[in-house]
Amino acid sequence: MGANIIDGKAFATNVRRQIANQVQRLCDDHGITPGLAVILVGEDPASEVYVAAKHKQTVEVGMASFEHKLPADTSQEDLFALIDQLNSDPAVHGILCQFPVPDHLSERNVVARIDPAKDVDGLSVVNAGLLASGETGLVSCTPLGCLMLLRDQIGNMSGKEAVVIGRSNLFGKPMAQLLLQEDCTVTIAHSRTADLSAVARRADILVAAVGRAEMVKGNWIKPGATVIDVGITRIPHPEKPGKSRLLGDVAYHEALDVAAAVTPVPGGVGPMTIACLLANTLTACQRANGLEEIKDLTA
Ligand code: NAP
Repeated sequence: MGANIIDGKAFATNVRRQIANQVQRLCDDHGITPGLAVILVGEDPASEVYVAAKHKQTVEVGMASFEHKLPADTSQEDLFALIDQLNSDPAVHGILCQFPVPDHLSERNVVARIDPAKDVDGLSVVNAGLLASGETGLVSCTPLGCLMLLRDQIGNMSGKEAVVIGRSNLFGKPMAQLLLQEDCTVTIAHSRTADLSAVARRADILVAAVGRAEMVKGNWIKPGATVIDVGITRIPHPEKPGKSRLLGDVAYHEALDVAAAVTPVPGGVGPMTIACLLANTLTACQRANGLEEIKDLTA
């Protein structure tokens, strides 16, 4: 039980405090309030919870929150009309559409409709391309949060072996790009990777984003590695009937014996995602107004 447990909850609270200070300064010095618009189509209960959490935290840091709840049968035309209106609204600096959307709507087309400068989820092809070419865009929130935790934990990552398990556009690919920018030697593993445990064991930095509970065993981890567990699987609670609990992709208690540092699930990566959404909204607002960006929100 030697590993440092990375407290993402406390870290995210600190990031939000820094953001709140910056928002206050923007307001005091320039009369500007950053604004985040969230679109929810339909009544998916999990999405309702996420949108409510985003609204609460947006307001808490002093930003303006614009919620747009649309019925499940909203046409693509009507959704695009709303996105177009938000794209041209100067009070809105960030736009996100909560996924999943109903089947008749295409997530790809929805993301493509959002102005890349307001795409605070960092999911557009433009922002993915900017990241891949090492240029300035908006970076997908969860990988950005993991990078912040890693920088805090490790400092200089140059030359380290990093293995990212998972290659989604949402997480795995942008995470790998960010680690490459930190001068890590990066491997992206996936469902077809041969001898995954041996690949994982090479990693000084092991990031698991698969969605298979406790897939990464203790003996997959190089002694002294830093392990970031992104995966979330909900299982029935063993002791509380009718309740559920969350498990990560990493066998947490085994990892504690081998790794130098591990993120728990919950309380590790998860809280960083909304904090980074707010960080991206602040950044988008500063850029839209030609103001200096604050690079380090973790000081
Ligand atoms: P995804 O799109 O389903 O991608 C999963 C990836 O895992 C794919 O690249 C897949 O490989 C790979 N994979 C599946 N089975 C595997 C296996 N047996 N061995 C190795 N790789 C395997 O999921 P995602 O959106 O990236 O999310 C991944 C996990 O992170 C989920 O549990 C999600 O809930 C969680 N997550 C959490 C947060 C947060 O904490 N805020 C944010 C985002 C995601 P192939 O490409 O070969 O199919």
